[in-house]
Amino acid sequence: MTELHGGCHCGKVRLVLRDSVSEVSECNCSLCRRVGGLWHYCGPEKLQESGSAVAYRQGDCSLDTWHCEVCGCVTHWTAVDPGYDRVGVNMRMFEPEAWQCLPRKFVDGASF
Ligand SMILES: [Zn+2]
Repeated sequence: MTELHGGCHCGKVRLVLRDSVSEVSECNCSLCRRVGGLWHYCGPEKLQESGSAVAYRQGDCSLDTWHCEVCGCVTHWTAVDPGYDRVGVNMRMFEPEAWQCLPRKFVDGASF
């Protein structure tokens, strides 16, 4: 397990990820393709977020996608349902060394 420290461009939203990241996911759903996120999925206890991220709740109301209110960077998503124990972390908020050489998995979110 590694501990990664990252955050948005202006530094207002900070992320600490305590997990092993072996691949990153690119999703083609209507939101992800606009955001351009590279996602790591993990249990919510592995991601610590501090700052003042703002949620955007998607049309189907299942996910909150969080972004910095100042610089606009999309940092992560969380499930609206507290019983769903997955979050998505945008690996682009961390230094490129943490993710740029990892295999990329294509997620066909547009078909869900
Ligand atoms: Zn920011």
